[in-house]
Amino acid sequence: MAYEVKDWKAPGCSLILKTDKLSDRETFSAEINEKYGEGGGLNANYRTVEAMAVVANILGCVNGFNYSEHFVFKTSGLDEIVLDFRSQEERDAAERTIREYQIKKATDPCPDCGKQLVHQEGILSCRSCGYQSAPC
Ligand SMILES: [Zn+2]
Repeated sequence: MAYEVKDWKAPGCSLILKTDKLSDRETFSAEINEKYGEGGGLNANYRTVEAMAVVANILGCVNGFNYSEHFVFKTSGLDEIVLDFRSQEERDAAERTIREYQIKKATDPCPDCGKQLVHQEGILSCRSCGYQSAPC
């Protein structure tokens, strides 16, 4: 990392997550670029924000974690975001939740039409038929 960011509550409780495994921004960015020209760096910022929104929603739904109570956004790097947790236990629980989400994201087909589902801010939706799952 180019610069050091201070630990939030306890040292060593940060979690690094890849934004491309959390955000479906690429799909939309491709459409936006086609219609309006290159988004470039702006798309990278959107991806960071969307990935953070996705993580906050999932951790809220699954773990009951609240932003600024259990975790905070620490910093972002190239295609990654770094979160800081209050404790090692909470960090590890969050890592398990996000890993399960990423496995699910890659495999779940739509129950209505069988097409690949996409995650949008913690909700599974089908871009083909409009199916949407409950948030958790
Ligand atoms: Zn569908």
